[in-house]
Amino acid sequence: MNVWIDADLCTGDGICAEIAPAVFFMEDDGLAYVRESKEHFPDLSADHSFNENKGQGGTANGVARIPDALLDDVVEAAEECPGECIFIEP
Ligand code: SF4
Repeated sequence: MNVWIDADLCTGDGICAEIAPAVFFMEDDGLAYVRESKEHFPDLSADHSFNENKGQGGTANGVARIPDALLDDVVEAAEECPGECIFIEP
């Protein structure tokens, strides 16, 4: 599963980053972003499906793969998101 945020709808409240800080983080612009590169998931560093070319600041296209172990947290964040702007897709 993959996750992305529609930044146009993000209210910047930070709820997603509180619920699933391993996946979501707040940037200086006050909006939430998704983490993807494997250094964000050191416990899963053997999983080479992560994009290794992207450093800090989210992903190249704003879409991140969700580690299976974090899927429940991401779903909860999407449900709690007041902007309804967290999208989970296959
Ligand atoms: S919970 Fe939704 S509205 Fe709030 S910061 Fe995260 S993505 Fe933005």
